[in-house]
Amino acid sequence: MSREQMVEHARLFYDQGTMVGTAGNLSARADDDSFWITASGRQKGQLSTGDFIRVGLNGDVVEVGASDNKPSAETSIHRIVYELFEDAGACYHVHSIHANLVSNMTDGNQLELPPLEMLKGFGIWEQDPLIQIEIFENHLDVPRIAREIQLRFAHKSPQLAALLIRNHGVTVWGRSTEEAKVYIELSEYIFRYMTLAKQTGMR
Ligand SMILES: [Zn+2]
Repeated sequence: MSREQMVEHARLFYDQGTMVGTAGNLSARADDDSFWITASGRQKGQLSTGDFIRVGLNGDVVEVGASDNKPSAETSIHRIVYELFEDAGACYHVHSIHANLVSNMTDGNQLELPPLEMLKGFGIWEQDPLIQIEIFENHLDVPRIAREIQLRFAHKSPQLAALLIRNHGVTVWGRSTEEAKVYIELSEYIFRYMTLAKQTGMR
């Protein structure tokens, strides 16, 4: 079941350094109207299937899992992703060093990605694709970030099933937990490439 997969993926991301401490949150759609998401404040390297909360698309907590589970403020971002993208079955958000570094490569709200082969993993099958990832400002008031995502994507679909929050992290969504995991790994590869390329004076 999806919660077991998320426990496994959180452990993997923890080991890779993108879910350090309690950072980040993973979620998977339970049915059309709700999703399971990691509870607030849990150590991501030591999750169990009881550390999830089921939240409705209206934001209400439907099921708490363990009795002291609390929803994270970042739940609002997951909720918007499920609302915007009907085929999203999972949404993963991690705090990656490389994501934060590349989020500062522009002051604008879009960042051009290098035309790497790895983009095919996101379903982009073009010769030398020109792909921009959308960047959102980080706000202490997380629901404000969610509202800005909702507003921008309501007008224009993103080119990639991923977005950056500046100096905060990356969020991806896929049809399944497996697909979301792959997207996290692909984005990490691309951001790491960009950081290294900048260091070595390449594009
Ligand atoms: Zn976060």
